This record gives sequence, structure tokens and C-alpha cells, in this order.
Amino acid sequence: MRAVCFALIAVLGIGATQPSRPSKTTKALVGGTLIDGFAGPPVQNSVILIDGDTISAVGQVGSLAVPAGAEVISTEGMTVLPGLWDMHVHTMIVGHADYGHWDTAYMPQFESVIMPAAAKQLLMAGVTSARDLGGPLEASIAVRDRINAGKIPGSTLYVSGPFIQHAPYPNTDAYRWGVTGPDDARAKVKKIADAGVDVVKLIDQDQMTMDEVRAVVDEAHKYGKPVVAHSHRPEEIRRGLLAGVDCFEHTGLATAPGYPDDILAMIRERTAKMSLGPLYWTPPIEGLLNYEYLRDNPEALDDPAWHEGLPDAVVADIRKSLEHTDRLPYFQLTAARRPTLANKFKQLREAGVVQLIGTDSGIPMNFHSHSTWRELDAWVNVLGVDPITAIRAATYWPSVAMKVDARVGTVSAGKYADIIAVRGDVLRYISLLQRVDVVVKHGVRYR
Ligand SMILES: [Zn+2]
Repeated sequence: MRAVCFALIAVLGIGATQPSRPSKTTKALVGGTLIDGFAGPPVQNSVILIDGDTISAVGQVGSLAVPAGAEVISTEGMTVLPGLWDMHVHTMIVGHADYGHWDTAYMPQFESVIMPAAAKQLLMAGVTSARDLGGPLEASIAVRDRINAGKIPGSTLYVSGPFIQHAPYPNTDAYRWGVTGPDDARAKVKKIADAGVDVVKLIDQDQMTMDEVRAVVDEAHKYGKPVVAHSHRPEEIRRGLLAGVDCFEHTGLATAPGYPDDILAMIRERTAKMSLGPLYWTPPIEGLLNYEYLRDNPEALDDPAWHEGLPDAVVADIRKSLEHTDRLPYFQLTAARRPTLANKFKQLREAGVVQLIGTDSGIPMNFHSHSTWRELDAWVNVLGVDPITAIRAATYWPSVAMKVDARVGTVSAGKYADIIAVRGDVLRYISLLQRVDVVVKHGVRYR
């Protein structure tokens, strides 16, 4: 190998002072049916060549040759697709039912233990990219950067750092920043943008002045950061739309049967403007749809997949908090919300928003190892979304929304090799995604 490198350097005439490039290894995923993330039909008998961290070519058996010496990974019998995105996760929480206790007991371990464990669980579930919406600033950036540098395994994270809101809730100042006036709003957004966040998360904007909301959105856009906004209450949505928020989160409005007409009219007005690009909406819906099911059929809560990376004592504490899932305050209204979800999801869809897969992963009972496939399953099997649309809401569209579609989101030449493969036909049986056979991120195989 060394002789080959020296020979190559001699041939290319590269001087000895040039830094040597990292040696590239070629991998080939061969044989499976590829859903590439674009809207065309699946590619049978696919061949995907990976050089280093990047996809170099995509074709079919018989027309795209596998180079001699490549590491061949057979995907025969499998569906091959872009690594999934989850557009709404919380890596600082991992399923514990009591947030107050969680922060007090574990905040000192967020950066060193909890967030890395969450990111690893996501990756092992086939989620190669995740948008982390709300966390302490330095910890969020540090964990993201350690993953990007290859120091720890995990999903590629797109982090917001702290929630920007009217006032933090008691004892949450580490990850919720209140703003007092438009100048303060701009200063806080500048601070997190300078620190390197990927996105700005707005919450409780119905408690802010309209000038403050506009200041947050305008300042974020000045730095090229998309703004995502909580949308549980009608006035949060109205203000977000007026200020130019890029993506709304949640299928909210509590137990109300649907979105009011004036809001739907505002959304339609916004989605009619092609020049503004799509209006995105992440509905995190599976946690609400599945609460009663998991409460009554709790075997999934015993799956050790969610213990990955967590110390035994932390696992024991989480399990204890979930002893009486029927009594969790967080979910007491969920049974009454559940019947309203399908209508709200459909209303948004028909108003022209581009819905994205996101889960609120990390909330009570919602482990990072299981949330994302359940959201896809809910969309397809409960909400009637066709599988390709659901998969593109977890691959192609998130990469566009985060402005990284030049490198992520599809299986095509020139993109990072973020690829998963699953035995069986995912287009017919979407829940196969609960057990991913192959996970490759940036060319490195993790599963
Ligand atoms: Zn959330």
C-alpha cells in the first residue's frame, strides 16, 4: 500500500512538502432496490460506490462495474435508502418522565453522557441526521462538533442551542433564553449565531411583542439561519407567519378539532408564494398517537436499544419514572387530543405545507432508538400518506429545509455516503424501518 502511494505521488509529481491525502477506501453496496430520495421509481439491482465519505457513482448491476479491491456489502433482498433525518429531537432528554428531576440530576452530564448517548441511539436506528431543537448552547455545539470530527459515533446534528422565548421557565435558564425587547432579541440571536448554531428555535412567541418576534426572525435570517417555531397555540402560528418563520413544529391546538379558518387562510397565502420557498411543518405526531398503545402494551419500553450509551443508574432512574405510564401528567390530555390529529395533519397538508418527519424524540416514553420509524409508520398506516412521500419527508426535504441538499438527503453521486439498508420491501411494509440492517454515515459503516 505504501509503495502504491509513493508511486502515485511520483506519477502526479506531488512534492514531498504536500500533506498526504487520507487514503480512500472504496465500498460498494450491491444488489438491493434503491429509493434514492428523489421522486422517481425505485432502482432495482442497485450499485452504489462510495469513495471515502462520498458517493462516487450510483447505477445498476450489469452497467456499473464494482472496482477491483472494493469492499462489497451485499444488499440483496433489501431496500436501500438515504439515511433518515429526524427534524425534531431533544438529545438532552432520553425518555425520563420528570423534567424537573432530570435537569437537576443530570444537567452536568448532558454534554459528556446524555447527548452523545441520544445521538448514538439515533444513528443506530438509521437516523444519520437529526435537528436538535433546544439545549444548552456550549454542550449542543460541542457534541455536534465531536460527532462531525469523528470522535464519537452519532447522527450529524443540526442544533438550535437554547430556546428563544419570552421568559425561561423556573430553573431552565441553561437552555431557555428570555428576551426583553427587540434589541435584546437581536443580541441573543447574534450570540447563538456567532457560537455556530444551525437553526434558531422560537417558542412561546405569543407571549412576546410582535417587534421581538420580528427581531428574532430577521436577525436569524441575517446570519442565514432558518427559524423554527413552536406552534401549539393559534397566536404562536399567526405571529410566526407574520414574522416569516421557516418551519413550524407540532400538531398543536390541544383538544380543538382543527385549525381555525383564519390561520388556514394565512397558511394558504404563504404557501402560494413560490419565491419564498416551501413552508415547512414538522408535526411530531407518533408520541401522541402511540401513547395509549404503549401504556397498554409496554413491552417495547423494555427494549434495551434505548439503554445504549447510558449508565445503568440512569437507565434504572428512567425505568422507575415510567412505572405508572397511565399516571404521567404529560399525557393526561393525550387520549382527547389523539382523535383530532388526523384532521389537523390533513388540514395542513391541504393548505400546501411541506410536512417533515420529526418526533420530539426524548420526551417521556419516546426513546431515540424507536421514535423515527414510528413516525413514518404513523404517517403511512394511520394518516394515509404514501410511503415515498413519507420517506422523502425524512430524507430529501429535510436536507433542502436545512440548505444542505448539495451534500445530504439523497443517494446520488457527490453526496455524503449516508445510506441505510433494510431487509424486505419498505415501500410495502414501512415498519421494517424499526430494524435497520445497514447504517453507513459519511462512508463509515456503523451497522
Ligand atoms: Zn420538542
